[in-house]
Amino acid sequence: MAELSTKERMAIKFVHMPLNKAELRIHNFEEVPVGYTLEQAKQEAQRCIQCKKPGCIEGCPVGIDIPAFIHLIEQGKVAEAAKKIRETNFLPAACGRVCPQDKQCQALCVVGKKAEPVGIGGLERFAADWEREHGTYILPEIPAATGKKVAVVGSGPAGLTAAYELRIRGHEVVVFEAFHRGGGVMVYGIPRFRLPLDIIDEDIHMLEKIGVQFVYDMIIGKVLTLDDLLVNEKFDAVFIASGAGLPKMLGIKGENSSGVYSANEYLTRIYLMQALKFPKYATPLYQGKRVAVIGAGNTAMDTLRTAKRLGADVTCYYRRTRAEAPARTEELEHAEQEFLNWKWLHNPVEIIADENNFVKAIKCEKMALSEPDSSGRRKPVGTGEFVVDDVDTIVFSLGCDVNPIIPSTDKEVRINKWGIVMVDQKTCQTSKPGVFAGGDAITGGSTVILAMGQAKNAAVGIDRYLKGELKWADANVPTDPNAPGVQWEGRFSAGKR
Ligand SMILES: Cc1cc2nc3c(=O)[nH]c(=O)nc-3n(C[C@H](O)[C@H](O)[C@H](O)COP(=O)(O)OP(=O)(O)OC[C@H]3O[C@@H](n4cnc5c(N)ncnc54)[C@H](O)[C@@H]3O)c2cc1C
Ligand code: SF4
Repeated sequence: MAELSTKERMAIKFVHMPLNKAELRIHNFEEVPVGYTLEQAKQEAQRCIQCKKPGCIEGCPVGIDIPAFIHLIEQGKVAEAAKKIRETNFLPAACGRVCPQDKQCQALCVVGKKAEPVGIGGLERFAADWEREHGTYILPEIPAATGKKVAVVGSGPAGLTAAYELRIRGHEVVVFEAFHRGGGVMVYGIPRFRLPLDIIDEDIHMLEKIGVQFVYDMIIGKVLTLDDLLVNEKFDAVFIASGAGLPKMLGIKGENSSGVYSANEYLTRIYLMQALKFPKYATPLYQGKRVAVIGAGNTAMDTLRTAKRLGADVTCYYRRTRAEAPARTEELEHAEQEFLNWKWLHNPVEIIADENNFVKAIKCEKMALSEPDSSGRRKPVGTGEFVVDDVDTIVFSLGCDVNPIIPSTDKEVRINKWGIVMVDQKTCQTSKPGVFAGGDAITGGSTVILAMGQAKNAAVGIDRYLKGELKWADANVPTDPNAPGVQWEGRFSAGKR
């Protein structure tokens, strides 16, 4: 087949990934996008003009060689494409589904300057699913044992990525997880209609096959301390990847009424604790008929859509407008298709309960946006006009703070005033010798791919430490409690192995 010219490639229309119909999907928990066929994937791959300076790679926190894997799909070499992605990304099927590509790789895609950017996320998902369905994945070879042992605390994307990166360098790795199963937010937060469970299970299974050990129902900081791990259990290093699972609330009147949840509790009950199968599983869920969800980020979209699937009339309350909603564009669009109600510029000020302390209404102040400030940001300001809506369940989806258990039980681990674990930005060393940290624990609530990128950085740091190349005296861990957590300023240095 003759090579297509850039002009011909640019003329090819964006291939939309087919979706299950909204009127049907709101009655089940099946995945919403159905994935590309081989023909659709090849056609979308043809839209990539194979740039000499590909913006997409710079936009990827783990530095996937995006043009290379897309070219392989175009040639029909899908197993090779998956292998190419796996050179830098250990969780491609999850990332193809949940990464904010619209703000990362696709935002910098050169084709996107004139037309719809190349559907990089959809193609990544296609290659990863193909690999799973055709069984083409080959386990990595593990080098001779180094004799060093690393404890990973938490089995979310950061913990799993670090476990993989350390294991393939020959170290013994044990993952300690507080819950009874692994995956972190990918299992207890992100709904099944966005990320099916078997995908995460297979990645964990793969880690087990290469010798990573998992210890579940183990809360580090409570049952075993960091010193127990380092001194008694003789681990040479510890990686804290305990995430950000401490829900934020508004502190308004009535917040303690029955029928008020944090999104974390609501989603964990449903997806991790199987409340949908009550009484077979002993997790009750008080699910009302009129549900108010407060916030407009990814978690809010997940909560709204979950409540809808449970048969409720569901409304989103957000104090800014749709344009400022922090959710991924695709998630917002999918939610908008699902017959939800939207109350933009509404700021909840009180929860009204009945005589038995059950939620009966929510009171909101209507807001307006100010003129842009020096940073260009428009603040929501109260108008003095209030509305009261009848609701019987309220779910706060306002983001989460870092899990406090480990820093609160080991004062050598320095945190800033927001509870974020302070680390050397290059090596992920904490203030406690032998202890590293990554993922949401060092950024505050963030994204799967950023958690993975930091975990890769940390794994490089841990490996160097275990080889005696990294000294604690050289670690640059901020001491100022006002110092921010780690920010992403481009691809992580350990993006490529
Ligand atoms: C509902 C929801 C939807 C989201 N949607 C998206 C999305 O679409 N795209 C995206 O990129 N990101 C999304 N995110 C954010 C993303 O999931 C997180 O940024 C990411 O999971 C962080 O990874 P992590 O490994 O640092 O932490 P986590 O995934 O939080 O994993 C931490 C793990 O550590 C365990 N743990 C905590 N404390 C201890 C302890 N003391 N001892 C032992 N184990 C412990 C926890 O049980 C958990 O399993 C979403 C988050 C939520 C809540
Ligand atoms: S920037 Fe877009 S067009 Fe260029 S190589 Fe990357 S995906 Fe292809």
